[in-house]
Amino acid sequence: MNGKSYKVALDDIGDNFRDKREEMVNTQLVRRGLVDLNVLRAMRVTPRHVFAGKSNLERAYADNALDIGQHQTISQPYMVAVMTELLELSKGDRVLEIGTGSGYQAAVLSAIVSEVCTVERIESLAVDARKKFDDLGYKNITVKIADGTLGWPEEAPFDKIIVTAAAPDIPAPLIEQLAPRGIIVAPVGERHTQSLLKLVKDGDKIVKSYHVPCIFVPLLGKFGWEG
Ligand code: SAH
Repeated sequence: MNGKSYKVALDDIGDNFRDKREEMVNTQLVRRGLVDLNVLRAMRVTPRHVFAGKSNLERAYADNALDIGQHQTISQPYMVAVMTELLELSKGDRVLEIGTGSGYQAAVLSAIVSEVCTVERIESLAVDARKKFDDLGYKNITVKIADGTLGWPEEAPFDKIIVTAAAPDIPAPLIEQLAPRGIIVAPVGERHTQSLLKLVKDGDKIVKSYHVPCIFVPLLGKFGWEG
């Protein structure tokens, strides 16, 4: 898709998808107990069908993850919303995302906070996501191609960090790059099944809590799984 076709996707058939988004928010998110109004609003306005790509157009708002090529997936809307809600975002937050993928999660975050930095190890995915952000007019998202298990030291500290690929544990550099009182949300566990871990930095103390079970593709890198 070139830049023009993304815009066509939004302008010409936008109403169609607006209804689908509304239905997605009501049946998949509100009914399951999500209450953060900023998150629900972000899910209502973010064009998931553009990030999901042409081949997923018909099922872009379905209640499941979607294949985006390169053996990677765009998470189920519910999982995106739960992770976003767990981050307890404020408008002024600077957020780091590890695992840009399609760019959808970064776009949802950017509808709530002032700045999103996102790192992707697969160049073609990062380039595609960057193009979508440009075409759609997202101005507060920066994409870097690198091993995200190392974080993004030049941009640290971050108020919130979200990892959208699964690791045995949260990479140490991410904890170092988290601001005081910051929050990290990441799927942590075995290679094929994990739980969402929320980590809160409270002075020298680290407080961890486990939330919903989940299945993410592996985080590959120095502080993740071996490739
Ligand atoms: N957040 C994405 C979905 C992520 S899928 C979305 O909204 O579409 C997980 C992504 O993490 C994949 O694109 C994968 O390439 C990426 N990834 C895996 N290990 C990584 C690493 N060490 N650094 C950066 N990205 C990584």
